[in-house]
Amino acid sequence: MTLNALDPWPFSSTLGKANYSAALRRYPGQAIVDLKAMRDNMRHLVDVVGGSKSGTEVMGVVKAGGYGHGLIASALAALAGGATWLGAAQPREALLLRMAGINSSRCHILTWMYNGRYAPLSELIASDIDVSVGSLEGIDDLANAARKIGIPARVHVKVDTGFGRNGFTKDEFQAALDKLVLLAKEGVLDIVGLWSHFSVADAPDVSEFVKVTDDQLERFKQLTARMEKAGIPPRIRHIANTAATLSRPETHFELVRPGIGLYGYEADPSMGTPSQFGLKPAMTLQAQLGTVKDLEAGEGISYGRTYITDQKTSAAIVPLGYADGIHRAASGFDEAGSQHIEKLGGPVRVMTNNGPRLMRASGRVCMDQFIIDLHGDAMKLGVQEGDTVELFGPGRGEEFVEPTADDWAKTAGTISYEIFACLCARIPRLYLHANEILDARDVRKLNIKTIL
Ligand SMILES: *Cc1c(COP(=O)(O)O)cnc(C)c1O
Repeated sequence: MTLNALDPWPFSSTLGKANYSAALRRYPGQAIVDLKAMRDNMRHLVDVVGGSKSGTEVMGVVKAGGYGHGLIASALAALAGGATWLGAAQPREALLLRMAGINSSRCHILTWMYNGRYAPLSELIASDIDVSVGSLEGIDDLANAARKIGIPARVHVKVDTGFGRNGFTKDEFQAALDKLVLLAKEGVLDIVGLWSHFSVADAPDVSEFVKVTDDQLERFKQLTARMEKAGIPPRIRHIANTAATLSRPETHFELVRPGIGLYGYEADPSMGTPSQFGLKPAMTLQAQLGTVKDLEAGEGISYGRTYITDQKTSAAIVPLGYADGIHRAASGFDEAGSQHIEKLGGPVRVMTNNGPRLMRASGRVCMDQFIIDLHGDAMKLGVQEGDTVELFGPGRGEEFVEPTADDWAKTAGTISYEIFACLCARIPRLYLHANEILDARDVRKLNIKTIL
């Protein structure tokens, strides 16, 4: 019998089942994305800001292919949950959303990461996509593009309130205002908003950082006042990411921009678990085992002999590696290994005859695979080639022994964001509950082969 670390997926139809089998033939690992969880996460975020009539709207941030969950699918789930804005760092992704038929009667789209010289600014303006400006050159380039096509550009002025990244510092702000005022008068720019970004809103437990967030907020208010005084008051102010949306109501203004919350994670595990914030992780990463075999005690596993078996055991190959986006930093070291360091590897839920067991990446993560020490006899455990194992999922409690992307992040010294945003395109993304939460027109915007 083939053991499965997960309950059978609830296929919506025979097509869904066929799509699943095809994905397993195509690739030995799959990312299953629960669109209903994403829709519900967005609904929850809309509730957190006071509901759809509160005067605060919610942007679903879908940059980087929806943090690895899929750009279009994430956008549609966010809209189904009540988002009225979408945010994509790169212009190309913003354009792809419009090309998929998500038009301006449904939502605004904001993009912010570009250089004015090469970016498709005219195309963005013509596609009714709001553009951020945070440099004097950027203002000129955008104004030129708007003049050329004869449509005013919708602009969000980005200010650096203490992040040291994009946006005008308070000292540069006057020069920006001078330009913006003239261009607004000329009718070339429609000044829609003022926005900024927090640096440490995900550490509400560190008093020093709470003060930094307070200071950023104060500067944001001062810059708002300067815009008002200049005669171009921002209609929409926004600064809150997921962390601030969840923990700082005074930062909500007219719009909030949660990203990680849409995908079901809190911004930092130090804030608590997703369920404490009413969120459910949407992605499950699973794989089918390659070779399962016995090893003697004292055998080195993988490159560099960082892990040496401490007893006669069996090992199994998980066919995903760093070329798939599995972090090499999640390699497992044991004391007996050449470096004499003990460091837990990335966790994997394996179903055995004795129930689910948490196994770990043992030795170095390789390009296409990593190995797990089963700490026992595979035959007795009932573990064999082809079994489905789970790398991470929604985290269904201790009993269920289910790792989350936060657990992987911990072993790799990173954050959940990077765990899924780095999963390569070659891993099939498959969508659960698409037919349930999306109308037929939206379902058709997805690749039909990805629907379960
Ligand atoms: C990514 C990003 C967000 C979303 O941040 P989360 O921590 O994922 O909620 C919001 N605003 C900007 C400018 C971003 O780049």
